Parts: sequence; structure tokens; C-alpha cells
Amino acid sequence: MEVPFVSFRPMERALDKDIRAAFERVYDNSWYIEGKEDEKFEQAFADYIGTSYCVGCGNGLDALVLALKAFGIGHGDEVIVPSNTYIATALAVTFTGADVVFVEPDIRTYNIDPSLIEAAVTDKTKAIMPVHLYGQACDMDPIIKIAKKYDLKVIEDCAQAHGATYKGRRVGTFGDAAGFSFYPGKNLGALGDAGAAVTNDKEAADKIRAYGNYGSDYKYHHIYKGQNSRLDEFQAAFLSAKLPHLDRMNEERRRIASKYLSGITNPLITLPYTADYAKPVWHIFAIRCERKDELQKFLKEAGISTNNHYPIPMHLQGAYKDLGFKKGDFPIAEQISETEVSIPMYYGMTDEQIEYVITKINEFS
Ligand SMILES: *Cc1c(COP(=O)(O)O)cnc(C)c1O
Repeated sequence: MEVPFVSFRPMERALDKDIRAAFERVYDNSWYIEGKEDEKFEQAFADYIGTSYCVGCGNGLDALVLALKAFGIGHGDEVIVPSNTYIATALAVTFTGADVVFVEPDIRTYNIDPSLIEAAVTDKTKAIMPVHLYGQACDMDPIIKIAKKYDLKVIEDCAQAHGATYKGRRVGTFGDAAGFSFYPGKNLGALGDAGAAVTNDKEAADKIRAYGNYGSDYKYHHIYKGQNSRLDEFQAAFLSAKLPHLDRMNEERRRIASKYLSGITNPLITLPYTADYAKPVWHIFAIRCERKDELQKFLKEAGISTNNHYPIPMHLQGAYKDLGFKKGDFPIAEQISETEVSIPMYYGMTDEQIEYVITKINEFS
């Protein structure tokens, strides 16, 4: 049996009519940037997350950059990010001109360890960027408490956590602003690059919109040295077609996750831990194994594709060699990168595929 790591096909089949209708609506309207599709999706997504404002952007990275800039973060500032995340989180900080400060994750949740944040705060720290990694909410209460104590902004990276909740409330509503990615493989994915920032802060929302539109508050009037990062009409229309199905599709991921959690019993495998405050959306189902390479080879030979999130921690990436870190500096992030294996998780996996993945993982010895 073949089990791909991810397939968009089942979802595309389920939503085929709506997606084609979205395409035709935009094409027939012959208007492609800054139009009513963008406006409509922004309203729907803000309502879904539970924020007052949503600003569509070109991608998730830009959503984070624009959110940081909206709060005046830049040169000379420090921003705390987890040492275990996709590099976009750190690059967002770097692009504002601010310095990245890595804080280790909790080895059980893989998310930033709130008990280690305070020690990383200096008089230059301006913000904390918690990442709800793999679709599970960070422990937000202690993070917000530290932010209040030191007067820091909290910018949530929600790129992997559309619809995930913390103590019953959706992520993206806890910080001063949050960035979402609609990269095709995310839980809510466009048919290309797209992203959005959400916030309850009117001034921040206006700044995010202006910074993403050439620093313009109205046409040909430029108050900032902005960039170009807008959500186009096609992507907005596709996202509007998909958003009503997000909860159902997340629920399907939860069903797969619960099968994995009860079915995988191999003592060589560490299963993901779900904190009692979190209801994850399982963007990624991350297991760990000391013999990671052997496990992946074994599964590959059985027709099961897997992945790693992420094979090289950020502090050891060439892009950040200027920071001068070496192996051993962030041992928990390194431990995760050395042992993490992401197994197939997508809407439309069949029960046979799920059972097959479980059986093969249990056979690994
Ligand atoms: C995908 C992702 C991003 C960036 O999103 P893009 O739309 O690809 O720019 C940022 N942070 C995390 C954690 C991500 O997984």
C-alpha cells in the first residue's frame, strides 16, 4: 500500500464545485487585487478566529513581519522566539531589523517553555513570538503574564494552528496580533501563497494594511516605506470556499490522531503529548524515535512517506551562522530535530491507510 505524506486530492474532490465557482466568480468579475473577495474573506476569517480585524497578506511570513512592524519593532530591539520552529518565525524578526533571541521548547509539547522566557528578557526585549507548533496551542497564560510584567508585545505565529484552541479559545486571540499562513499544505490552505494577520487593535490593523500596501493609507499617499504584500482576489475566494469546511476537516485530523494515539504501541516510539489546556488541530503528527533514519527508511520501504519538522534547528542553519551558535547550544531543539518524524496526516486518509501506518510503525524493531 502507498501512503503519501500528504495529499490535497481528497479535499479538492470534496470542495471541487465551490473552488471552481470561486475561480469563475473572480475571473468573471475581472478584478484581481484589493477587491470584495479580499474584504469578504477578511471579515469571515476575523469572525472565525474571534478578532475584530483581519488583514490579508501575500504569505504567512509577511503577516508576521507586518505585525511586528505595526508595533514599531525594528533595529536595536530583541524578540524572543522558540528554538524549535520553522525558520519563518525567526526570519520575520530578522526582516524587521530586530535581533532574534531563541528560547528552548518543552520536550513534551515541543512548544516554547514559558518557564525559560523570563531569563531571556533584557532591556532590549520588545516582543515574544509564541508558535503554536504542529497545531497545538502554547501555554499562553504564563506567556501573557511575563509580557505584561515587562511590557512586551505578544505576536502569535499561528501558521500551523488554524482553529486550535487554548482553554477553549482560538489561538490568534491571545496576543497583540497574530500571523497565519495559507500555504497550500496548512490546515487552511490557498491554491498558492497567501497569509493574514489578525488583531483586536484598530491602529495595528491599519498599520499592517498600510505596510503591506506600499505604506499607503489611501491611493498614491504614502506614510510609511512599505512593502507589497496583499491577498489577491483568487486566493481570497478560494479561502472563502474552504473556510466553512475547516472545522470539519480539523475534526477529521483529530480522528486520525486519536487512532494513531491509541494504535501505536511500539516502545521505540514517543507519541505526541497533548496538554490539558490544548485542543490541537494536528497540522503535523510528530512522533519521535532515537533511530529516526532507520524508522523512516523502514516506512519508506513499506510505501509510507514521512517527513521531518525540522531536520536542522535554526541556530545551526547557515542563514544564522552570524549569531555564532554551535551544536549543544540549544539541546532540546537539537534533540527534537534528531528524533522527530512526521507521519501522514491529511483530510481524506482512508481507514485502511491509517491502520496500515499504525501496523508498520508497530512492526519496526
Ligand atoms: C508555514 C509557516 C510560516 C510561514 O508561512 P508562509 O506562508 O510559508 O510564508 C511561518 N511560521 C510557521 C511556524 C510556519 O509553519
